[in-house]
Amino acid sequence: MLVLRAARLFDGVSSELMARPLVVIEDGLIGGVEPGPIESPSDAEVVDLGDVTLLPGLIDAHVHLGFDASTSPVARMRSDSDATLLLRMRLAAQRALGAGITTVRDLGDRNYLGVTLRDWFRAGAEPGPEILAAGPPITVTGGHCYFMGGEADGELEVRRGVRARVKAGVDVIKIMATGGHMTPGTNPRLPQYTVAELRAAVEEAHRLGRLITAHAHGPAGIANAIEAGVDCIEHCSFRVDRGRQPDPDLIQRIAERGIAVSPTVGSAPTTRPGVSTLAESFLPILADMHRAGVRLIGGSDAGVSPGKPHNVLPYSVAFLGRAGLTNVEALAAATSIGAEACGIADHKGTIKPGKDADLVAVEGDPTRDLGALLNVRAVFRGGRRVGVK
Ligand SMILES: [Zn+2]
Repeated sequence: MLVLRAARLFDGVSSELMARPLVVIEDGLIGGVEPGPIESPSDAEVVDLGDVTLLPGLIDAHVHLGFDASTSPVARMRSDSDATLLLRMRLAAQRALGAGITTVRDLGDRNYLGVTLRDWFRAGAEPGPEILAAGPPITVTGGHCYFMGGEADGELEVRRGVRARVKAGVDVIKIMATGGHMTPGTNPRLPQYTVAELRAAVEEAHRLGRLITAHAHGPAGIANAIEAGVDCIEHCSFRVDRGRQPDPDLIQRIAERGIAVSPTVGSAPTTRPGVSTLAESFLPILADMHRAGVRLIGGSDAGVSPGKPHNVLPYSVAFLGRAGLTNVEALAAATSIGAEACGIADHKGTIKPGKDADLVAVEGDPTRDLGALLNVRAVFRGGRRVGVK
């Protein structure tokens, strides 16, 4: 049994921080959470973390462990052997964990290496984040991220694609509803699949008990994904030929249907100029979505560029704060709300008895300043303290 003491605790939901919390950890789970100067059980090891805020381990709902955050992650992935790629993914996962990101949803690997790595960490030889793996994203022939190996055309192939992924052990299905920026020859602003094809994927995923998330940039692809009944939309950036064109009706339907949106915003500071103007133009759209009641969650697209290293999630959370979410709402997006959207709220996302003891301690108070998420002092994964990076 392990008992943690800290100055403050954010439980993932409540806007009231708990002062001087005492968190009991037993068998990797949270056994109890008590406020104030309560006596620790006598047989427990007590760790006083000092002047820190304890939070649920962060959840990054959109990463690519197989992308190395270089200037050419696709070329590197394509030239890597599976063995090299797996080692690269292991480093990326450990970097996330060291930053307090205790769960990552990998939305695109090659040859199910995310499943392999998930199982390796679960076997317990070394600590790693919880990985929710999608395997190769389902995409049209030559479509966005086709080089990951997930090409499928027509309703039958899409259904077969979902079945093959479930057979391989994925946690979630990812489908490319539009083209993407990393794949020349595809168009992010236009749909790749028809509503019928997307619906076939959704039906099959749900029949097999998996959530399905759709990558979509342009409004028509977003509309198709909504119509097909996906559980989550990645990016949802309303990209058109010149900038962005948000559609209030689509935003309303996303909210009404309870579809989560993982906007993959926020970047670590880099020396490369020119990226930020377009990013800034997303702020008012996110604000509109938030006002309409859309569930925004913390997702970063970690790995895709130098501004997106595998510990980038705090910048995504800060971006949500700038888009009009309160700091508590932004923190919930990367903890409790993210857990709900990823279907893991029964054991992740809040500091409550019975949940996994995935915890992060940061200096300062992130409900006052989201920048505090960058000052990680301790990380616990399944009740075990892991190294901070
Ligand atoms: Zn992505």
